[in-house]
Amino acid sequence: MSKLGIFGGTFNPPHIGHARLAEHFVEKLGLDRLLVIPTAQPPHKEAKELADSNDRINMCMLAFPDALISDIEIARGGKSYTYDTLCEIKELYPDYELYFIIGSDMLLSFDRWYKSSEILDMVTICAADRQEENSLLKVQGVPKCFDGKRLIVSELMPFEVSSTEIRELIKSGESTDGLLDPAVRAYIDERGLYR
Ligand code: ATP
Repeated sequence: MSKLGIFGGTFNPPHIGHARLAEHFVEKLGLDRLLVIPTAQPPHKEAKELADSNDRINMCMLAFPDALISDIEIARGGKSYTYDTLCEIKELYPDYELYFIIGSDMLLSFDRWYKSSEILDMVTICAADRQEENSLLKVQGVPKCFDGKRLIVSELMPFEVSSTEIRELIKSGESTDGLLDPAVRAYIDERGLYR
């Protein structure tokens, strides 16, 4: 069976931490395709200074050049639940095994997601730590709902960057070298985003 990686996020903007996480699982699991899905409005947290959906799609195309960028959640609009998105994807890709990629912050809240146990019947969750020091994942462990269920926690070395940090750097006119793909930065500067 072919393997499809699914990576959802606000991607406001997509940074090297995102690209590194996705690439890691593509290689480690031999994923045949990667679907990157920018969300319309994040259900798990409030988005501050959310760039326009088209801009986030365009930035994802630059940040994930080998992936398919899906507007499935943006087209649906409003709050999207991962469960609903996965149901649609299962119909679109019936012959694929699904792998859902997330960072440790998302993994830790997973048991509170809408229909989390149904999600676990549909996909294998692929997660990695976001921070090295004070790793909540190491302290709290994975949520109980996983209990032998489909979860891969990778030992990928954390790369500590967030979109919030990037937006602040851009606002203060600072360099984002090593944190943001230069093509994404050029796009942001050209469009005057996050000023
Ligand atoms: P913000 O700072 O705006 O809240 P963010 O950097 O957390 O944004 P999201 O687009 O919300 O980025 O994240 C999408 C997915 O990528 C989530 O599963 C998140 O855990 C994961 N992720 C984000 N940054 C990293 C990172 N540096 N390392 C590993 N995973 C990451």
